[in-house]
Amino acid sequence: MNINLIKPKEISIKNIESVHDSINHEPFDFNYSYIENKDAVNKDSSEIFAENRSLRSLRVSKTLDLRGKLEQKTVIKFLKSVDWETSSKSPLVVELDPTSMCNLACPDCISGSLLNKEEIPSERLLNLTNEMIDAGVKAVILIGGGEPMMHPAIGEVINQLGKADVRIGITTNGLYLKKYLNVTAEYSSWVRVSMDAGTDATFNRIRPSSTGKSLFNSAINNMEVFARSKRGKLGYSFMIFNEGDFGFKGIPIKGNSLDKFRHLKTNVNEIYTAAKLAREIGCDYFEIKPMYDVNHFAIIQPKELTQIVDEQVAMAKELESPNFKILEASKLWASLHGESNLEPKEYTRCAITQARTLITPSGVYVCPYFRGQEQQKIGDIQNQSFSNMWHGSLRKEVINQLNPSKDCSMHCIRHESNETIERWLAGGFPLPTDDFDFFI
Ligand code: SF4
Repeated sequence: MNINLIKPKEISIKNIESVHDSINHEPFDFNYSYIENKDAVNKDSSEIFAENRSLRSLRVSKTLDLRGKLEQKTVIKFLKSVDWETSSKSPLVVELDPTSMCNLACPDCISGSLLNKEEIPSERLLNLTNEMIDAGVKAVILIGGGEPMMHPAIGEVINQLGKADVRIGITTNGLYLKKYLNVTAEYSSWVRVSMDAGTDATFNRIRPSSTGKSLFNSAINNMEVFARSKRGKLGYSFMIFNEGDFGFKGIPIKGNSLDKFRHLKTNVNEIYTAAKLAREIGCDYFEIKPMYDVNHFAIIQPKELTQIVDEQVAMAKELESPNFKILEASKLWASLHGESNLEPKEYTRCAITQARTLITPSGVYVCPYFRGQEQQKIGDIQNQSFSNMWHGSLRKEVINQLNPSKDCSMHCIRHESNETIERWLAGGFPLPTDDFDFFI
């Protein structure tokens, strides 16, 4: 059997840029391993699993290089320029929810309470886009609370940002990809589609439309068309679900080899099917991630799920090639093995909030972990200019009272970034590298 583990240094994950978690609304760090086997798609699943079970213990781990991204010359220059008592000149990265509207009705949506309320009016959104460009924002992530590509002005927003050389990342349900094909293919650095299923039936239970008609094939078809003309990366995202996590009622497992798990109601038995489909339609990567509760703590899953996920991930990894990667969120492993989902922090300020922010129709928030939470609201872009919001007294007040050692016991993707910045501020900055990815 042709299985090769590639040494960590041979793996470049930087090209994948930031990959985002649709539920957590945050880029993940990934444990990453690369196993190549061209014959994998034709193999029997039990054969693949048996041969790969031992390889799981040899997993090559490498985290998405958020720390490395901080060493870029533009980022170091930015960090050196921050007045830590008052403010940075502007954020480098903005996560932007243009709308809270969504055309799906997912029972387990973590933003469920924020959906279908308001959106930033088109004229204001276009002005905001120009204000962000003028302020020096380097990257914008179009995301939700809501389906960002449903906003009527989204094509023009992408066009304006792209023309101004602002990097664009998009997390989407994929159903509007074809509508805005030209600008999205031309200007997006990455597009990540939240799918969570490998079949029409499962998709329609996890991500049902308001009409009841499954939109699985529409999303797949859109991704396939997009993959042919894209310049950036395309990802297929798969979050594991289990009965009872939120409103999800589960999917009974079918399949001879899975008979003993019939009592579980989950989507994890479709990981391999979905990964295979992702490769076939031209995705660059397939990501598997755990489920989070509304407070962003990873849900600890029952042990029985672990065995199925192990098997499915091992099979999926056999699909890897130089053009197709399988990515596992770091907390996936912890959530499947009963590890604590707490992440204590010792620092008392969040340095990265000087470099990033989240803009939504309901307000601007310190970070995506506090989307919609009034006490962490730093401004209101509907009534303020971008500059006035960023330099306003409310933002200063909220940032000053924010204390990660008390307020942020959940896993935060930028925990290491914060520790790194504090270390550099105390002991000196490293020599900068060339710029390569502004999704810090
Ligand atoms: S440390 Fe807290 S405030 Fe800072 S980015 Fe993480 S969750 Fe947000």
